[in-house]
Amino acid sequence: MKRAVLLRFVVILLLALAVSGSFSYYFIGRNMLEHDKISMLNTIRAVDYALDYHADLQEQVERLQSSAMDENSRITVIASDGTVAADSEIDRPDVMENHLEREEVREAFADGTGSDTRSSESLGESMLYVAARSACGDYVVRMAIPYTNLIDYMITIFPVLLLGTGIAFAVSVVIAIRFSDTITTPLSEICAEMGKMKGTQQDFSFKKYKYRELNVISETTMKMAAEIRAHMERLEREKGIRQEFFSNASHELKTPITSVRGYAELLDQGFIRDEATKKDFYARILKETDNMTNLINDILMISRLEAKEAEVTFSDVRIGPLLAEVFESMEPIAADAQVMLHKECSPVSIEASARQLRELVMNLVSNGIKYNHPGGNVWVEAWPESGRLFIQVKDDGCGISRADQERIFERFYRVDKGRSKKIGGTGLGLSIVKHIVEYYSGSIRLESEPGKGSCFTVELPFQKRIPKE
Ligand code: ADP
Repeated sequence: MKRAVLLRFVVILLLALAVSGSFSYYFIGRNMLEHDKISMLNTIRAVDYALDYHADLQEQVERLQSSAMDENSRITVIASDGTVAADSEIDRPDVMENHLEREEVREAFADGTGSDTRSSESLGESMLYVAARSACGDYVVRMAIPYTNLIDYMITIFPVLLLGTGIAFAVSVVIAIRFSDTITTPLSEICAEMGKMKGTQQDFSFKKYKYRELNVISETTMKMAAEIRAHMERLEREKGIRQEFFSNASHELKTPITSVRGYAELLDQGFIRDEATKKDFYARILKETDNMTNLINDILMISRLEAKEAEVTFSDVRIGPLLAEVFESMEPIAADAQVMLHKECSPVSIEASARQLRELVMNLVSNGIKYNHPGGNVWVEAWPESGRLFIQVKDDGCGISRADQERIFERFYRVDKGRSKKIGGTGLGLSIVKHIVEYYSGSIRLESEPGKGSCFTVELPFQKRIPKE
């Protein structure tokens, strides 16, 4: 990358130098031409001043040229009728062609000064002519030097400009290398650091760089890596929980299936002749299948809640009728267990899924009945308070020890496994309750004392706030 950046930079530099060099050559060349014209005019004025127009002009011009000028300079004196009165390069000026039509001569007679560049007819060389009218006005003094075009000047200044351009190029290349280093080195370091990434186990360490954009790259990379790591860790954790859940669920299902199979085999083999025992076996098979149905329903409920089921139907759920409905379906079980149900509810409603709320209250009430004693009570109360709906389910049952209070919301956790199974518990009820409460960004609180009873208090915000994840 460094080479590519540098190469482009050098190409741009060369182009810039070529363009600026060409302009410099052209303008310096033009300036030098103007400068030459001015100094030639000064020489002409000096010659004009030195000449005695009444004496032999040819002899004076030759003498002036040989003593005061370089050999390439030519001086010509032209009379007002165009005849050449004297010429430093020609011995017999009187045979020379009339010069009145020469551009510089015409301009000089007309405007005082004139100049032209062309090939000399008499010398056969390309020349620069500068002419000025003499102080006495009857003559034009003309000076000529060899000149092809601006390139003459450019050739003169070429070595100097080349040296300047070369120095500028060298300095610019050094600066360009340093400049490209300040960009490519940090990028290479960032790439090298990112190349170290293996799986999710990477702690990047980037330096602080001069350019903000480079720091943004490194900071964003670190942020993204941290997010990916957190995400992967969460997925790992969820995977573990799911695996544990499936192995627990299979284990839970295995026991009733084995029992059902055992009873069915015994009945099938015809060893049981006693009708009462047969009936008992049928009843046990039905009980076990009921347990399996409960378990499967709870597993399905949990997986739906975990998947944040999309098609949850929200409606304005009136809590009074909901409690009445739950009590009605719980009544037979409560009567069986000789537990009294009581409710007290303010006229309150909440925007929620009726099915989820029913499940929540049903699980808490059924636990209050299940983990109670004959003659026990379950009280349910619901009321609104500071923007939240409170639902409290209280019982005077067996209560829960402090150590178990912390674990009863875990899946498949039961305080007394045998008792729970016997009364159709799955160990998932409170886990479902907790899921539903979290679905509505609410909270659940438990107060319990072994031997005295338990009190579960659920708080749900009235404003529907479904967690995103
Ligand atoms: P289960 O299906 O076994 O009832 P839960 O998740 O509903 O599963 O409850 C987990 C355990 O918490 C129960 O097995 C029970 O031991 C205890 N528990 C729940 N509610 C009560 C309660 N109201 N009184 C006493 N113990 C309770």
